[in-house]
Amino acid sequence: MSIRLNVDFLKGRLPENIKIVAVSKFHSADRITEAYQAGLRIFGENRAQELIAKQKILPDDIEWHFIGPLQTNKVKYIAPFVHTIQSVDSLKLLREIDKQAAKQSRIIQILLEIRIAQEEGKHGFIPKECKMMLTNENMIDNYPNVHISGLMGIATFTEDNEQIRKEFRTLHAFFKDLKSSYFENCNYFTELSMGMTDDYEIAINEGSSMVRIGSFIFGDRI
Ligand SMILES: *Cc1c(COP(=O)(O)O)cnc(C)c1O
Repeated sequence: MSIRLNVDFLKGRLPENIKIVAVSKFHSADRITEAYQAGLRIFGENRAQELIAKQKILPDDIEWHFIGPLQTNKVKYIAPFVHTIQSVDSLKLLREIDKQAAKQSRIIQILLEIRIAQEEGKHGFIPKECKMMLTNENMIDNYPNVHISGLMGIATFTEDNEQIRKEFRTLHAFFKDLKSSYFENCNYFTELSMGMTDDYEIAINEGSSMVRIGSFIFGDRI
């Protein structure tokens, strides 16, 4: 299947208002160009070096999202251009993003990654930690170069759809809780990034606003 057909097929299955982040990790700039020509503008990468190399040679109107574990010492390299960092899982990382964004006179959007999966070793804030951080810190005044535009979560890798549904439902409830407790008057806390190739339909049903799709668009990684 061509990338264009995949993209058209995917768009046909998603409500209009859902944002598609095309996860292009491990795929070449040529393949990304095909997806761009098929109309996609938001691309997600999970390694700083790969992202930097691709950003240099691909069109300027691409909105780049970082979606993987990010070391604080790498933030400065992507700060000049990255649109959204979806995988913020510590205050330390958030502070560094704010600092580097300020140096670039930019605002960088971030999503707080929340741990929803049962599996060990997953990244993300535990909900209680996240609330504690938001209670202790005045995010809007203390970190003016960072906009917290919502939450991101990765469900357990399992065949059990009910398990996945439960996790997405929990994340949506947490999103609404944070919105009313901390972001009531904040017009940019709007995104709930959940759903990948295997579970995006469940995610959409459970209130996702943004899906991160790799294999469906680009085929399996070799
Ligand atoms: C790779 C990746 C995706 C895309 O996965 P697919 O199953 O290929 O759609 C989404 N989110 C994150 C965080 C990823 O690392």
